[in-house]
Amino acid sequence: MSEKYRGLSPAEFFHRNKEIAGFSNPSRALYQTVRELVENSLDATETHGILPYIDVEVQLHEDRPEWVTLRVADNGIGIPVHEIPNVFGRVFYGSKYVVRQTRGVFGLGVKMAVLYAQMTTGKPIYVKSSTRDSDVVGEYLLYIDISRNIPHVQKMRIKKKNKNWHGTIVRLTLEGAWLQSKKRIEDYIRRTALISPYATIRYRSPDGELLFERVSKELPEPPQIGKYHPKGVDIEILKDLIRRSNNNDMTLAGFLEKYFEGVGEKIAQEFLTWAGFQPDTKVKELKLADLEKLATAMKNFPKWRRPRPLTLSPLGPELLKKGVKSILKPEFATAVIRPPSSYGGHAFIVEAAIAYGGEIPPQDNVLLLRFANKMPLLYDEGVDVSRKIVDSIDWSIYKIKFPAPVAVVTHVCSTKIPFKGVGKEAIADVPELEHELEIAIRDVARRLRIYLSKLEKMYEVKRKEVTIRKYMGEVSSSLAYVLNMDPSSISSLLEELLKKELEKKEVTVNA
Ligand code: ADP
Ligand code: MG
Repeated sequence: MSEKYRGLSPAEFFHRNKEIAGFSNPSRALYQTVRELVENSLDATETHGILPYIDVEVQLHEDRPEWVTLRVADNGIGIPVHEIPNVFGRVFYGSKYVVRQTRGVFGLGVKMAVLYAQMTTGKPIYVKSSTRDSDVVGEYLLYIDISRNIPHVQKMRIKKKNKNWHGTIVRLTLEGAWLQSKKRIEDYIRRTALISPYATIRYRSPDGELLFERVSKELPEPPQIGKYHPKGVDIEILKDLIRRSNNNDMTLAGFLEKYFEGVGEKIAQEFLTWAGFQPDTKVKELKLADLEKLATAMKNFPKWRRPRPLTLSPLGPELLKKGVKSILKPEFATAVIRPPSSYGGHAFIVEAAIAYGGEIPPQDNVLLLRFANKMPLLYDEGVDVSRKIVDSIDWSIYKIKFPAPVAVVTHVCSTKIPFKGVGKEAIADVPELEHELEIAIRDVARRLRIYLSKLEKMYEVKRKEVTIRKYMGEVSSSLAYVLNMDPSSISSLLEELLKKELEKKEVTVNA
């Protein structure tokens, strides 16, 4: 028999390979769906300067407890009514294919949730949305036509807006193992609240309601849309930019200046001479071999400026510390931010925090909370670069003796996080990143050591005080007898002496 040949649509591919995107079983799928929806809501708010209000609700079907309905509502920028079908019904469709730090990057997440819902319960997704400047609200019921990778709209309604509401409400019903996933989901929500302390997140589930009210009204500077860095290109990116420039007269020098980050006239000339190109060559005339030579030279030129961090949006140490304190409730917390850096033409910034004592339970290893572009990473900790670093550190030099109540928080912001897979749960050990992470972690660990040595000194003083007090009564009465004095005046004298001594040794401990 001869083979039959045909193509596979992107939706069909992910339908067959759900586990690649984190939808491997009903427990993981429910967690992943919560994640995709919450992350879209956060992207739609804070990236655009809106203080997020996010409402998450999980409900179990009365007769079929394996059917879980998830509803997520936000006060974000909303989606233009005519875009709603595609953004929810076409795999690889979205607004985040630009150089800017967002949680979403692939244009895939919510479609995975829709696919999973329709294949396990047969139910479409419900979406209601309105943008800030629109005077209508769109409501849709839709699913994905998997073999064609296009949305199939079951119902739609466009209404005039009577209130000034903007945002998005999404509701879907999927098969999910609630009992197996509820701990992870709650953990996820809690950690999301930690890394977005300016967000109010309400989470209702069969287990009750949790409300994480924002502890700060200060939003980090939203990320700006940037250009490619010359080191981050390949032949296809060059072709695409040239095609899109739509300008037959554009010279190589002009092209570099217009489309690349940090490339001015001077550096463009210098590079082109270095690479053996004529600056006034028309880009439209470049052959494939020229493009190959150009791309290689752009990767290897040693003098490009570093990518600027304007495309990134870290929290900064103050906000990060606020988040850590509000969620972990430690006795001590401190945070640092590292200067911007880059790998392979992608800008990144690393932040880290350490927290100690308080409500953190003592454990045999450092409790690690990993974040990437403000997303908590909960799975695959064992293969993540942060775990590798934390495990390689000898914590005793920071005065940590296990079991100890110590938590380390790492946050990597980048226009391209080097994830180990589209499920986005672990970060690869890119050397530049590893280096910055280690400096950041050691920096906060050093501050913890200072705090712990102060504590140690304070305890020492206290111990002495206790011992002295123990003998004070006896000493005063013996002295009173020898000196023929009133014992109470001797003890107040001794008390005075002790007070002075303690004041000298007074150590202040600031958490
Ligand atoms: P990604 O988040 O990677 O872009 P998704 O499939 O999760 O991919 O979402 C596709 C697109 O739908 C997003 O790029 C965004 O434009 C839009 N979108 C999804 N959810 C929301 C939301 N809650 N508010 C506004 N826009 C949204
Ligand atoms: Mg998304």
